[in-house]
Amino acid sequence: MSRYTPSWLPAGLAAVLMLCMAAAMGVAPRSAYHDAGAPRRLEALQLPDVRDQLEKLADAGATYIHEEPMRRGDTIATLLRRLGVEDPDAQQFISRDPAARTLFNLQPDQVVQAEVDQDKLLVSLRALVAGNSSASRELLIRRAGDFQKPAFKANLQAVRNELRYEMRSGTITANGFFRTMDAAKVPDDIVRQMISIFSGVVDFQHDIVQGDRFHIVYEAGFRDGALVRNGRVVAVELVNRAQLYQALWYDGADGSNSGAYYTFDGRGMARPFLRSPVEFSRLSSGFGWRNHPVHHQWIKHKGVDFAAPTGTRVFATADGTVDFVGQQTGYGNIVILKHPDGYSTYYAHLSGFAGIQPGQRITQGQLIAYIGQTGWATGPHLHYELRFNDVPQNPLSVMLMKPVTLSGRARQGFLSHASDMLSRIHVLRGIEVASSLG
Ligand SMILES: [Zn+2]
Repeated sequence: MSRYTPSWLPAGLAAVLMLCMAAAMGVAPRSAYHDAGAPRRLEALQLPDVRDQLEKLADAGATYIHEEPMRRGDTIATLLRRLGVEDPDAQQFISRDPAARTLFNLQPDQVVQAEVDQDKLLVSLRALVAGNSSASRELLIRRAGDFQKPAFKANLQAVRNELRYEMRSGTITANGFFRTMDAAKVPDDIVRQMISIFSGVVDFQHDIVQGDRFHIVYEAGFRDGALVRNGRVVAVELVNRAQLYQALWYDGADGSNSGAYYTFDGRGMARPFLRSPVEFSRLSSGFGWRNHPVHHQWIKHKGVDFAAPTGTRVFATADGTVDFVGQQTGYGNIVILKHPDGYSTYYAHLSGFAGIQPGQRITQGQLIAYIGQTGWATGPHLHYELRFNDVPQNPLSVMLMKPVTLSGRARQGFLSHASDMLSRIHVLRGIEVASSLG
């Protein structure tokens, strides 16, 4: 996939210049010119000033812009060849210069742009080598010396991205959550954020059903019209089994960098316990409960079983410390975490641990282990217990919700910020109504 664009057309420009000169010569009438006694008037000719263009023409010759995506396993030689560059001096410069070498921090599919002359020598090379959604680092390599004695310069500079709000929405179909997200063109990193934002209130593995609806507004950084990186989900709405969940990112009025997600009316989204300790991914999607967690079952069993393939990641459901990591009869490989206020959580039948040690502090959502079938287990699954003063609780019915609610000035600031984002969500709702009518 390549694109050649002549940066301009010398033949066309030359033709325009010839026409101008012809017109200039034809202005003075021949008879008056030859009559020495005829009255003379000097008039300025309205000609375009083409000297700048002529100089550029003489200096640069025709150049071509050529773009190529980085490929896995690319070397400097293979990349330059695809870019149509045959320039050993340029190749040597890029392989040695530290700034130029940042080219090889690029991920596959990121685009490199080269300007080459008619002799396939490199005139300039441009690529976005790093950055986040709001700013990029651009590498610019330029030919500096003349073409007999070539030299190059490489510069890394920060350039601001154009921040856009992208909007997506959809309805979960029979094809399942991930296929619906793909069809709605929601990028994977945005899907992961959405799952994480609602992880205190929704278990995406077991709660999401066909007909559930979502609206998402997220930030994305663009440079020269091309996406550089997706940013944060700024507003999201999920209708799950007729229950409405909403989340809005708010930086806080004091600019303290301690932003968090709130409901649209200003209640905090954070919960002491996640709804599920098992990562919901394409891999684990579609796995159900091993046994439905009705009351008499979990009280006999003391916990809930989450079925998922061996190796699926297991997350701490709450902040705490590691109380035990190792093996116990029946449980197999097990992690026990201690949490504030007398709570503890048990994660059993694990295939392995994520390098955690007894006494280590753990944050909510942190990777602690991997699903397996060690101990008394007939298939890969996680046995999960939530205990209060060592008495097992049903983790699915214990809500333990004490959401923070904004008040006073913070609430005023939040509500004015919210109204702007809500208008975007309203637009998405409108689109949905229109498409369901059509
Ligand atoms: Zn179990």
